[in-house]
Amino acid sequence: MANKKINKKDIAKLLNKWSQEFAVFVPSRESGVAEMAKWDGKDVSFLDWYRNTIVPPKANFLPQMEEMFRFQKDKEGYKIELPPDGAKQLIFGIRPCDARAMAIIDANFKELYQDPYYLSRRNSAVLVGLGCMNPSESCFCTSMGVSPAESKDVDLMLTDIGDEFLIEEVSDKGRKLMAKTTGLKGATKNDEAKAKEAKKTAYDKVTRKLDTEGIADKLLASFDDQDFWEKVAAKCISCGICTLLCPTCYCFDINDELVRQQGTRFRNWDSCGFPVYTKMPMENPRAEKWRRVRQKVCHKFEFYPMNFDVIACTGCGRCIRLCPVNWDITQVLESVPAKARVGK
Ligand code: SF4
Ligand code: SF4
Repeated sequence: MANKKINKKDIAKLLNKWSQEFAVFVPSRESGVAEMAKWDGKDVSFLDWYRNTIVPPKANFLPQMEEMFRFQKDKEGYKIELPPDGAKQLIFGIRPCDARAMAIIDANFKELYQDPYYLSRRNSAVLVGLGCMNPSESCFCTSMGVSPAESKDVDLMLTDIGDEFLIEEVSDKGRKLMAKTTGLKGATKNDEAKAKEAKKTAYDKVTRKLDTEGIADKLLASFDDQDFWEKVAAKCISCGICTLLCPTCYCFDINDELVRQQGTRFRNWDSCGFPVYTKMPMENPRAEKWRRVRQKVCHKFEFYPMNFDVIACTGCGRCIRLCPVNWDITQVLESVPAKARVGK
């Protein structure tokens, strides 16, 4: 299927058209924090951004807080009321790193467990990717098998070719959407050449590199090196930002709010960086900070590859950009000892 293209000034029209079928989400700073927010029908200023949002699009599939069900107790027992299904989402402007993150966490929510809340949103959603033409200094996506302007994890992919975007159909879902989207022009060979050049330029702009060769084995060998992990964890203040805003972190906590005989069960994001995360009545296996920092690093680069054959990091750079004390995961991974050392 030949690629299509759209003039940038026609993007609002396209989004409004798609809004008739989907709840369309676009990058927005309306709330004060860059996140995917419901399309307001006019603002396309996000087209000039060249970076992923602060809150990753995982929030559209695993909300920061969500109601799981309501319950009421009467003489016959508990009555459960499930929340209504949400509208089908179209996420416009998702970056390739964040689309890859969704594919990575699918392994947990689709394969290991079948999470009905996540799956109902994920299966009905359309992802429309937008390439990063000026990746941030903290991005290292190319070391994690992600290209800033190319993606196999979206349904449609847009590339900036000047006054226009080239639109590539990546999945069957994307092809079906394009088949019913009228008014787009076919891309020319010249457009394709411009897109190819733009993708290469974007790729070359990612200068931060991380060598992950043998990283899982090195982490395994260093697991008991308390001295190393204490040094690594020294400046961390356990704020949890790097995990809450990481697109591949998906830990959540579950709480019931109960008033007399009725209540609501919620789930909300949680972080393995918090001291209470593993607190149990008699003990806490990760009371010390170094153990929690070790868990965060090893889960992404050792345990997740062991379980699902993929590293749970896309090099999106958020944990580097947003950490209040400049803790840098690339520096940490580069400093893992090549061989096991004797711990304290
Ligand atoms: S963002 Fe920085 S300070 Fe906060 S938990 Fe992560 S590493 Fe620690
Ligand atoms: S660990 Fe850091 S760079 Fe990797 S996906 Fe998470 S936030 Fe992005």
